[in-house]
Amino acid sequence: MTTQRTVLITGGNRGIGYSIAEEFLAQGHRVAVTARSGSGPAGALTVIADVTDADSLDAAFTTVEAELGPVEVVVANAGITRDTLLLRMSEEDFTSVIDTNLTGAFRTVKRASKGMLKARFGRIILISSVVGLYGSAGQVNYSASKSALVGMARSLTRELGGRGITANVVAPGFIETDMTAALPEDQQKAYQEAIPVGRFATPTEVARVVAWLAGDDAAYISGAVIPVDGGLGMGH
Ligand code: NDP
Repeated sequence: MTTQRTVLITGGNRGIGYSIAEEFLAQGHRVAVTARSGSGPAGALTVIADVTDADSLDAAFTTVEAELGPVEVVVANAGITRDTLLLRMSEEDFTSVIDTNLTGAFRTVKRASKGMLKARFGRIILISSVVGLYGSAGQVNYSASKSALVGMARSLTRELGGRGITANVVAPGFIETDMTAALPEDQQKAYQEAIPVGRFATPTEVARVVAWLAGDDAAYISGAVIPVDGGLGMGH
C-alpha cells in the first residue's frame, strides 16, 4: 500500500486525464482535476482552470489546497493538437499548441512546486507523447511542445531533486481518446500497422503507469521518459 497523497491532474474532465483521476481514486488518494468544462470522475474535486492562464491555475491550486491539502503529486496532462503541414501551419497554430502543452505545463509545475518545496516532497509527471521523440509529419507544433517536456523534467530533476521532488515524463503512444478519434482513418490504420504490440491502448493503461510513478516504489526514478506506446517509439 502506497502513501495516500493529494493529487492534481490538469485536463481531468475527459480522456487520459479522466482515467488518471479514476486510477488515483481507486488507489485511495485525494484527487482534484482541473477542467474548463464538465467535471472529473465521481469522488474527485473539480476546479475550473485554463492552463493558458496562470491566474486561473493559481486560484484552482488555492481551492485544492484548502479542500484537500497541499498538492503532492501533479500531473500536467492538458494538451491540444492543431495538426497541419508546415507550409500551412500558421504562427498561431504553432504558438497556441506551445502555450497549452508546454507553457501550460510550466505554469502548472511552477505553481505546484511552491507547496512541494515547503513539504520537501513532490512528484511531477508530465504527459508527453511518442510523437515528441519520434516525430510526425503534420505535427511540427505538437511534437516540439512534447519533446520540450523532456528537457523540462530533466532540468526540474537537477533543480529540485535534492528537495525530495521527482520529475518524470510519460510518453503515451496511440491511446483511444477524442484526440485520436479525430485522426483520419488512413492515419489510424498506418499507426496500427507500425505498433509492434499490434493494437491501440486504453487510457487506463497510461493511468496505471502514472499512478505507479507517483507511488512509493518509484522514489528513485527521476528525469526518466517512460514510453507507454506498445513499442512504437523504441529507442527514446
Ligand atoms: P483529449 O483531447 O481527450 O483531452 C484533452 C484534455 O486537455 C481535456 O481535458 C481538455 O479540456 C484539456 N485541455 C486542453 N486545453 C486546455 C487548456 N487550455 N486548459 C485546461 N485544459 C485544457 O486528449 P487526451 O486525453 O487524448 O490527451 C491527454 C494528454 O495526453 C495530452 O497532453 C495529449 O497530448 C497526450 N497524449 C495523448 C495521446 C493519445 O493517443 N490520445 C498520445 C500521446 C499523448 P477541455 O475538455 O476543456 O477541452
